[in-house]
Order: sequence, then structure tokens, then C-alpha cells
Amino acid sequence: MVEDGGRVDMEWCIAQPKIELHAHLNGSIRDSTLLELAKDSREKGALAFSDVEHVIKKCTRSVMECFKLFDVIRTITTDHAALSRITKEVIEDFAADNVVYLELRTTPKKNEQIGMTKCSYMEAVLDGMRAIETVEVSFLPSCGSKEKLEQFPNTNVAINGEKRRKLYVRLLLSIDRCESAASAMETVQLAYKMRHLGVVGVDLSGNPLVGEWLTFLPALKWAKEYGLAITLHCGEVYNPNEIKAMLEFCPQRVGHACWFEQEDWTKLKSLNIPVEVCLSSNVQTCRVSSIRDHHFDYLYRNNLPLVLCTDDSGVFSTNLSREYYLAASTFGLNKAQMFELSRNAIKHVFADESVKILLNSIFDSAQRELAIAVGSGNS
Ligand code: 5GP
Repeated sequence: MVEDGGRVDMEWCIAQPKIELHAHLNGSIRDSTLLELAKDSREKGALAFSDVEHVIKKCTRSVMECFKLFDVIRTITTDHAALSRITKEVIEDFAADNVVYLELRTTPKKNEQIGMTKCSYMEAVLDGMRAIETVEVSFLPSCGSKEKLEQFPNTNVAINGEKRRKLYVRLLLSIDRCESAASAMETVQLAYKMRHLGVVGVDLSGNPLVGEWLTFLPALKWAKEYGLAITLHCGEVYNPNEIKAMLEFCPQRVGHACWFEQEDWTKLKSLNIPVEVCLSSNVQTCRVSSIRDHHFDYLYRNNLPLVLCTDDSGVFSTNLSREYYLAASTFGLNKAQMFELSRNAIKHVFADESVKILLNSIFDSAQRELAIAVGSGNS
């Protein structure tokens, strides 16, 4: 039986397969892990817990307060063991939410005191991915092309007699806006070296009130020239010149786009650049006054490419199913429209064509299982 449309509830949002393209590793940390690591840091004398407890436990934060929390997280998480643990948990959490493809981004950091280089930081992230047992994680580029379509569309694969969820993961290396041009170049060159380890692109993020776009342009141009995909945090704060310069650079995707003016939307549309939309993050940091006023509505109604994402599921206490539910319940979208929105994200992943084919087959199967007639949503 094929059910047309249908009211979306949270259970349904969890059941449908989803694609996450904008998730910051350390922003997706579990609350319990963050508090535990903060207590450990206090015991080691690296942090006064009382100074950070209120920052960690606060629910709504301005952009500045949000970045204060990221500074705390950075102090607590930047050692190899903590990073591996966070990576493992974050991926397990996305898999449990029925995310079938995850592009996870993180800023490689140095910490001379503990012998951490950008490279060893990324090694720790990879160790975390390799340590996952409860989920089958495919993160090497060859995984997509070697796998046979017949193995799919079942996303629960049987290994040693046990059914495990399957999740494709690709990595993006972030440049932080407070870094120097040289440090940004080091990051993009590391990303290039790690292509065979599932790194597919580069992101520019960090406090949008800090740093100048031009500082990062040489590194981003280098990345583009060497075939890395690029996504930019763009228009998080009012900065019309920067928005225009970023769109002129023509990244493959942009994140947020909260302060776009009509001519920016027109440019975005002419370049067909998808927006990574983060509803809870934008509202909780007051970049948008309410979900109802969010530019999701404008993008969706005008058929502009968009992908729903979490941004920082730990910091904003959300997950991707919840973001889908928020969109559906606020903007009145039905199951068919939500399913199509989710499937459309496949077009915008940075992984290669073979992975896109596999993802499409997962969605074909889910469409049959969930009995949805699609074709009425944004495409
Ligand atoms: P990490 O890169 O350490 O794994 O993830 C946390 C970092 O991502 C933060 O320190 C910050 O640089 C960046 N980040 C997380 N959320 C946002 C956001 O909403 N906007 C911007 N511009 N950067 C963010």
C-alpha cells in the first residue's frame, strides 16, 4: 500500500534515513562526556570546574557565549584519548538516529605540551572511527566502489551473526577563523594528504566575529585547485561584503546563510549552491529570531537547494531527527515532502558517485518500507 503525504511525527523522523552534512565533531559531544571530561580536567588542575559549569549547562547562548563554550570544550577535549572517545561516541549517536551518511568536520589542532600535531590529532580521530564495533563504519573511499549493490539497500548488515547498522562517514577538515594563513595552509595540505583516509573537503568556521576572509583565501584556493570540496560558514553575522566575496569564490556548499540579502539569494540560486540549514543552532544563538522566521521557509518555497543539519548536536541538545521534525511541524511539510528533502541531500554529498548510488538504493528501499509516494516536495 502506498500512503500519500501523511502527518509527520517524531517516530517517523527517526525511522526515515537521513544524511548529515554539517556536524562539528567537538560540538556534537555528549553532555555526559563533556561533564566527565570537565571533571577530569579539574582534577588535573587544567580547569576550574566552577568557572565552566554554568557555561556548559546553559541552554540558550548568544553567538559570543556559544564560542565561549567552544573554548571550554577545546581545553577539555584536546588530547588524543579524549578525541578518539568523542569521535567514536558521536558516530555511534548519528548511527542510532538512522543517519546513513555523515560528513563530520573538525579543526585539526596542535598542542605542543602533549605532543599533539595536526596530523596526530587526525590520527586520533581515525582511531576513534576504527574503534567502533556496534556500527559498521565505511570511511575509506574504496568502500563505496568495492561494495556490491546487492548488499544493499539493507542498512543493517549481519556481521558474525549480529545485525549492525551501517554508516558511511567522510571527513572535512575545518580552518578556524582565528588561525593564521600558514596554519590554514597546513590544514588544507593535510586534508589533501588524507584523501585516501576519507577526507573529502575543507570547511571555514570559527567565531564569525573574528578574522578576515582574505587571510584564508590562499589556502582555500589551493584546496580548490587540488580538487578538495569546499564549504564555508557564510552570513552567520551581518557582513555583506564578506558574504559577497564568499559567493564569488563559489564554494560547493555554504553553512547557515542567516544574513543574506536578496541579491545574495539571487547569486546563490544562479550558482546552485546548497545551504546547510541548522534550525536549532540558528535560533538558540539568536542568529534567527524563531524557527517560524527561519529562511528555511524561503529556501524551500523557492526550490533552492538545502540540506537540514544539526551543526552541534551536543551544544544545542538536538539530533537530525529532531531537526526534521522541527521543519515538518513548523512549516507544515508532510511525510512525502520530508522524505524527498532527505533524499535530495544525496546530490550534495562530497563523497564520490559510487557512494551516491549506494545511498540512493538505501532510500529506494526505505521508501518501499515506509510506503511513501514521493514527488511533491522541493527538488
Ligand atoms: P571542532 O572543529 O573542534 O571539532 O568543533 C568545534 C569547533 O567548530 C568550534 O570551536 C568552532 O570553531 C566550530 N563551530 C562549531 N559550531 C559553529 C558555528 O555554528 N559557527 C561557526 N562559525 N563555527 C562553529
